[in-house]
Amino acid sequence: MSENICYTDAYARETDAVVVEADPETHAVLLDRSVFYPGGGGQPADIGDLIGDAGGSWRVTGAKKRGDDIWHALDAADALPAPDTRVTARIDWIRRHRLMRTHSALHVLCGVVFRDHGASVTGGNMEPLAGRMDFEFETMSGELVGEIEHRVNEEIAADREIRVAILPREEAFAIPDLIRTKINLLPQGITEVRTIEIVGLDLQADGGTHVAHTAEIGHVRVTGYESKGRINKRIRIEVTD
Ligand SMILES: [Zn+2]
Repeated sequence: MSENICYTDAYARETDAVVVEADPETHAVLLDRSVFYPGGGGQPADIGDLIGDAGGSWRVTGAKKRGDDIWHALDAADALPAPDTRVTARIDWIRRHRLMRTHSALHVLCGVVFRDHGASVTGGNMEPLAGRMDFEFETMSGELVGEIEHRVNEEIAADREIRVAILPREEAFAIPDLIRTKINLLPQGITEVRTIEIVGLDLQADGGTHVAHTAEIGHVRVTGYESKGRINKRIRIEVTD
């Protein structure tokens, strides 16, 4: 199993690594160690570069989890590096940091909507600096959305700490806040649960990468909302400086 630093240190932009295996079929490589987020929970995978210690470089166009391993898809124009090639694996940090701000903004939104309206999240998705979140939120209206935007920006300005923890399964399953985020849907076999806590506002089981404090998000603007049925409502946001 390859080590992925992104789960414990979202601010790691690069790492030394060795190519363990190259797969011609998917034009991808497995490294012994990585900083590339493989995608999941609505957050897209990182892109970036591998820079060879002995020369050469490869464009990483995406990353994907296969079992516990993270495979890095390389640009089809470049020949695959041989196993044992030593590289620096470097993510596109500007894009990743925008995704971190956006992902954390969506968690602030979840926290505010649950705290003030008791509405749970049913899904979400994001790209750098824009995202959407779906809620079971029958009473949502345009007026409420304006209020929610205001409260979200208040929480961001409060500069709450955002903490990552990896908890034993039993401990995680005993936390009431986690149960509401549908932790029970997690696979039976897992022994640990990674959590993201916006201290004093929100706690979720989550695999994504986040900023360390809410003020780093910047400013959130609600760009739209729509009904996806009588109960399910969608809120769209944009993240700005
Ligand atoms: Zn998340």
